[in-house]
Amino acid sequence: MAKGIWVFAEQRDGQMKKVTYELLSAGRSLADRLGGELYALLLGSGVAGLAPALGEHGADQVLVAEDEKLAEYTHDAFVGLLAGLAKEKKPTAILMGYTAQGRDLGSGLAQKLGTGMVSGAVSVKLEGSQFIFDRPLYGGKAYATVTCPEARPVIAAMRPNVLPVHAPRAGRQAAVEPINVPGNLRIRQAVKEVVLDVSSRPELTEAGIVVAAGRGVGGPENMKSIEAFADTLGAAVGCSRAVVDAGWYPQARQVGQTGQTVAPDLYIACGISGAIQHVTGMNSSKCIVAINKDPQANIFKVADYGIVGDLFEVLPALKEELQKYSA
Ligand code: FAD
Repeated sequence: MAKGIWVFAEQRDGQMKKVTYELLSAGRSLADRLGGELYALLLGSGVAGLAPALGEHGADQVLVAEDEKLAEYTHDAFVGLLAGLAKEKKPTAILMGYTAQGRDLGSGLAQKLGTGMVSGAVSVKLEGSQFIFDRPLYGGKAYATVTCPEARPVIAAMRPNVLPVHAPRAGRQAAVEPINVPGNLRIRQAVKEVVLDVSSRPELTEAGIVVAAGRGVGGPENMKSIEAFADTLGAAVGCSRAVVDAGWYPQARQVGQTGQTVAPDLYIACGISGAIQHVTGMNSSKCIVAINKDPQANIFKVADYGIVGDLFEVLPALKEELQKYSA
């Protein structure tokens, strides 16, 4: 059995996604257990400069495909190139983030390689040479354990912000191997425009602090005070699905089972009841602060600090205190 563990190094605009380092940390342990090598697959245009950081985070080899055709993610280019490479090099497992790109890539690779895909896994381990994943079901109420008896290869999309990142080792170097991008790669999709979210706040899934709003904010007009509070902390703004369903905030900011998984150092839940579908997306946060006027709210069961009160009184008071420290 070939023993390479592949990690898809997801980057956007030359910025490596944090999930890539989470996957490399998990992949390093798997490769060591199997006595094999850890590969990072870096595709894009002008991305070769990201390879050293992949080595420092544990990759033994970085396979780099640089081409204008790879400047933006397209299904055909990325799946076509990596499926061809996988047929040739026969990795044991291919890991990617459970992100928009990773989900598309993983399912495409599974189809092309005639194998399955474990989707949305939160842990991976080996028993002998068998890969075993856990993935949440029913909004985190249950977990399925998925065993992959054969590496054909094993393909898994792992949820971001769940796996720990091992400290990088400065100066640790990976061998860099350029990958030839065939001139006749068939690409049926064309990216015409990338519309950026113009928020100056940190990205929700990468932020160190997240301030999240629930139905308790009362209406779309009050999202401005949540944003203003977030800005005093340099935080990203998230929300519950109730807020999205009401049309008060974009779906891209939804935290939870059908939204984003976040694991910041500090998560401040404002007017959120703590439904399991929400909690499943934020309960790996290092410190959870909940503000809710109902002392029985479920959110207090997962909170490290709970403030029972009206968020419209609590947030201004907190903001005033914070400003004393930043003054
Ligand atoms: P509510 O449950 O209505 O809670 C509002 C809270 O605000 C209450 O606890 C109330 O006491 C408090 N409050 C009211 N006014 C104030 C005030 N002035 N000050 C302080 N507190 C106040 N939900 C998600 O969030 N993310 C998901 O990804 C998600 N996926 C789902 C998937 C499925 C299949 C299903 C069935 C549901 C999903 N949900 C998801 C919905 C979830 O079940 C809850 O309905 C939702 O999380 C509730 O949002 P909320 O806490 O904002 O609203």
